[in-house]
Amino acid sequence: MLQNRLDCEVLVVGSGPGGANTAYLLAQAGKDVILAEEGENLTVEQTPAYSLEEMKSKYRHGGMTVALGKPSVAYLEGCCVGGGSEINAGLYHYPSPEVLEEWVKDFAIRDFGFGKLEPFFKSCEQDISVSSMPGQVGSASLKLQEGARKLNWKTAQIPRCWKYECLSDGTWHSSRQSMTETIIPKALRHGCRLLTRAKVKRLCLKNHRADHALVSSVTKAGEQSLTTINFRQVFVCGGAVQTPALLRRSGIKKNIGNSLRMHPAIRMVAKFSEAVNEEQEGVPVVQVEEFKPRLTLGGSYSALPHLALWLGPQRIQKLLPVWKNLAMFYALIVGQGAGTVRNIPWTDEPWVRMPLTRTDASSFREGLELLGRLLFAAGATEIFPPMQGLEILKTPDDLKIFLGNLSLNKMDISTIHLFSSCPMGEKTELCAVDSYGKLHGFKNIYLNDASILPSAPRVNPQALIMAIARRNTAKFLENI
Ligand SMILES: Cc1cc2nc3c(=O)[nH]c(=O)nc-3n(C[C@H](O)[C@H](O)[C@H](O)COP(=O)(O)OP(=O)(O)OC[C@H]3O[C@@H](n4cnc5c(N)ncnc54)[C@H](O)[C@@H]3O)c2cc1C
Repeated sequence: MLQNRLDCEVLVVGSGPGGANTAYLLAQAGKDVILAEEGENLTVEQTPAYSLEEMKSKYRHGGMTVALGKPSVAYLEGCCVGGGSEINAGLYHYPSPEVLEEWVKDFAIRDFGFGKLEPFFKSCEQDISVSSMPGQVGSASLKLQEGARKLNWKTAQIPRCWKYECLSDGTWHSSRQSMTETIIPKALRHGCRLLTRAKVKRLCLKNHRADHALVSSVTKAGEQSLTTINFRQVFVCGGAVQTPALLRRSGIKKNIGNSLRMHPAIRMVAKFSEAVNEEQEGVPVVQVEEFKPRLTLGGSYSALPHLALWLGPQRIQKLLPVWKNLAMFYALIVGQGAGTVRNIPWTDEPWVRMPLTRTDASSFREGLELLGRLLFAAGATEIFPPMQGLEILKTPDDLKIFLGNLSLNKMDISTIHLFSSCPMGEKTELCAVDSYGKLHGFKNIYLNDASILPSAPRVNPQALIMAIARRNTAKFLENI
């Protein structure tokens, strides 16, 4: 095996929204930065959005990742340059000021709140083109609006990190504004060095400092190498699962990986008497606002392979002639359980557990009831419940019977929003890092990603992760 050595001022581990923004600001300020990313460097165009190819090359373990519990929760993470931003819907949400105030109080975070973060939200928005869909929203979004209007519920179109260009024939071309499209090229222009297919195995510690990292790389030809990276400071930005896994592998355990939070979601497929499934809409941009922040109702990507996976081979065979009349919708809750991240001995793989609580079970029940009512109000003729093998719901009475027999243990639950495994704040009995992301008890280790959100933000998290990453990096640069 080849053995290499590299030196830098600051090592940033992980190139998702947290790591990319950290590396960019550091490089812009003249720091000598290495950005190490375990996954491949692929452009947005290299894999069709939401395709099997995208899952294989940009998702961790091709999307086969699970948090064990009763029931287990399937979770998804990006594993490529740009992290989750390369595969996500880019829905861009501000957190509510009340949630941020709650964090200030519960975790004792200094110098924090909506007003303090606002300049960082704005600077991110300039770099990633946050915009609303021009023209009319897609058919599945219209169904959400129609159902909500009939029930007198509020909806909103959520802006996205997306660019829309009007073509000469009057149609629109839209493109995801992920980290590889926006922030990472800026970091590279300022001299940041990007190492890809480079997994940081562990940080080597001495006297409350980390002074080097061991990084394993595999070339496309399968050649393996081990690189020692020496640095003065390190920012760990591997995401809510991988950040605590790396720290624990390195022997750092205090308040690390004990408080993982999620927004778990449950899905139902609805059939309408007309077409509602348009490929170009992607993920529907409309959400029901009425029950936020407790509960969010919205639409999921509903391409034929996704529907097939969800409905199972027999059902989808029968529905093939009318599959364009089908679309998938979700109820997303704020999980109350605190999960753990540990390492499986002798491997680099984390072992994730997520207990769902009784409150979660009743939130799911409420979410399914509201979603069912909404879909019937929007004209659904059939609803396929979130467990294979169950009767199709054809009327609101069927929905009531289904809810009466509901068992959480048998439901298919998944999540794409994970955070809070290493919370931020001055309460050292609860928090892993201080108010600016510096690891308590260490002189030069910083965390700057989803793991440091103190608890579930109750909205799509990427906007907040980027703004906090910029705030913390700015503070670091001020102090250094
Ligand atoms: C399918 C999907 C859809 C989503 N939709 C939305 C949405 O519409 N709006 C929204 O706000 N959020 C959405 N999210 C969530 C959002 O993408 C994540 O919250 C966000 O990407 C987290 O950013 P991060 O920087 O903390 O970590 P990540 O994006 O997970 O990035 C971490 C990176 O670090 C790398 N890494 C990890 N460990 C190591 C190591 N040891 N060495 C080297 N590299 C390492 C990983 O490979 C990864 O690329 C979605 C997520 C998914 C999966």
